[in-house]
Amino acid sequence: MHSRWSEADVASLDPLDLLVYSSRLYGADSTLVVWGGGNTSLKQTETDYRGRPAEVMRVKGSGSDMKSIRRQDFPGVRMEDVRAILEREQMSDEEMTAFLRHTLMEPDSPRPSIETLLHAWIPDASVAHSHADAILMLTNNCDGEMHVSRCFGRSVAMVPYLRPGFALSKQVAEVVARQKDLRGVVLMKHGLITWGADSKDSYDIHLELVTKAEEYIAGAKRGRRVFGGVRRAALPPEERRAVAAAIAPVLRGGVSAKQRSVLRFDDSEDVLEFIGAERGQELSQIGPATPDHLMNTKRLPLWLEVPDPTDIPALAAAANAKLAAYADAYTSFVAAHNHAGHPLLDPFPRVMLLPGVGMFTAGMDARRARIPGDIYHHTISVMAGASALATYESLSDEDAFGAEYWPLELYKLTLLPPEQELARRVALVTGGGRGIGRAIAERLAAAGAHVVVTDLNATAAAEVAAAIEGVQGAGRAVGLALDVTDEPAVAAAFRTAALAYGGVDIVVSNAGIAEAAPIEQMEAALWRRSLEVNATGHFLVSREALRLMRAQGLGGSFVFIASKNVPAPGKDFAAYSAAKAAEAQLARIVAIEGAEIGVRANMLHPDAVFEGSGLFSPELRAGRAAAHGIAPEQLEEFYRTRNLLKTRVLAGDVAEAALFFASDRSAKTTGAALAVDGGVREAFAR
Ligand code: ZN
Repeated sequence: MHSRWSEADVASLDPLDLLVYSSRLYGADSTLVVWGGGNTSLKQTETDYRGRPAEVMRVKGSGSDMKSIRRQDFPGVRMEDVRAILEREQMSDEEMTAFLRHTLMEPDSPRPSIETLLHAWIPDASVAHSHADAILMLTNNCDGEMHVSRCFGRSVAMVPYLRPGFALSKQVAEVVARQKDLRGVVLMKHGLITWGADSKDSYDIHLELVTKAEEYIAGAKRGRRVFGGVRRAALPPEERRAVAAAIAPVLRGGVSAKQRSVLRFDDSEDVLEFIGAERGQELSQIGPATPDHLMNTKRLPLWLEVPDPTDIPALAAAANAKLAAYADAYTSFVAAHNHAGHPLLDPFPRVMLLPGVGMFTAGMDARRARIPGDIYHHTISVMAGASALATYESLSDEDAFGAEYWPLELYKLTLLPPEQELARRVALVTGGGRGIGRAIAERLAAAGAHVVVTDLNATAAAEVAAAIEGVQGAGRAVGLALDVTDEPAVAAAFRTAALAYGGVDIVVSNAGIAEAAPIEQMEAALWRRSLEVNATGHFLVSREALRLMRAQGLGGSFVFIASKNVPAPGKDFAAYSAAKAAEAQLARIVAIEGAEIGVRANMLHPDAVFEGSGLFSPELRAGRAAAHGIAPEQLEEFYRTRNLLKTRVLAGDVAEAALFFASDRSAKTTGAALAVDGGVREAFAR
């Protein structure tokens, strides 16, 4: 492991900035800490609120992530106060957190880490704690103590597994006080603690010890296939992705029985090797490497194996049966240990392993579906290292339960912001590259949805997806080229959605074209083109979406962007109006056929939306102007004054109506149409 420390970077930093700097170095290396794991601290003299000097420890706040941590993420606790309780025999977690609240330098700072006392009672100024993979490899096997002492000799002490809290902190303090020349403490099945005079000191020692562990493991692993031979080779990439796309909606429907989740697919080399190896199944069912991982991965992954994974019906039947069995087993496991009567957490797996195919992970959004996946790569790596030394071991059942249902972790869940209206949902928008489609994609994303933005123009789709991710965060949108008249491409778009998010909940069928001509002069090709895009395109999208939604079993919502021309067709606009009428009739039949699987379908009738529009080409403007007997530049004004409210209809107005139909706000409405046209009397519903 190489040091990332750069003297040039730290030249002008004060000690607190150095703490931030070093913390980010730990965070930058996922073999040391992943997603919120680990913590660091620094003791220094500060001036308190009354202007007196005070000895203060800055320690990582609960819930922050080392790789992006900032100064304000380090609450200060008064050392005089936290030293005073070292005398005590014991202290419950609740008492400890209540006590720590009184010791804060800034009353409104984030809650200090649950490992605060562990840092405070080590006398040195700088303390660092990680869950380094290499350390877990040493500790998580049946000969853990022996390997730790062989690797480090007497320079590192061991503390048996104990849940973080008062008792563990006190044990560490006693060990450190007893042996003056100690360089670090290994917490069995948990991680490593080092300390020093400043942030660089503790970082250097941390890296030195982790490197030593890595070298020790590498020696034991050399030339060995620790997972056994290949039992099941991975399917070729295209084939396994086709299987993954087909099974994803079934898995998503299954794990969403209590709480809707999005999924993430991962078929990286290390995952495929592990799940295809002789010992993969056995090892996967032992447990997590450290309690910190368990919060995200749950204690065990689901193992989903059938003789032939390309037999999708058989795989789907097995998936449903295995998910039900997993939830039952989890519920019984909790019942056996839950003496305090905590409410049952979601009983479905976060990690699902499909030999030959890959791994799915689940979470409430794309980010939180990624975390268990990222962590599981480290679980695999730790299992490999530990297996090279002896038999891999995890926490005891009781400790695993205790870690997952630890009140302090449960408390963190209550701090999450309230969920947005379309959180946990996935929308696919056609023609999302500009105009109405873009406005809808952005509106649904702002309401919490993940969005697959499709457009004939690949660049436009990618730009909209990037714009959404820029506002809503990475992973929240996918941009995709799609010609809705291309049958295989439509099917492929839904497969992409299934691989990106596990499925689709909302379909906005919007892509359309418009060309004007009087019937007597209309080329048959123009008529056919309009039917192809404005009618058949909606059919192809609907068919694939319904197939996916049936497999997924979570209902769904279609929003068809039709037109004011459906109830009130316009002169010289036969090809467009007739095709849009076909779309409208299709929408009603999607409502009829989709109802039995909880799928709703509704349509919007916008009129004269010029803003960002790809529909109103210069030719169409000229054609519509001619039909109304005006000049092309008068067209927008003509439409504005034609409606009752004398208003310009904007893409954002249509997007608001689309949100209404896409969301549960319209849960009891299907087969309906809503006009967004400023009021056009001829288009009133009759
Ligand atoms: Zn820890």
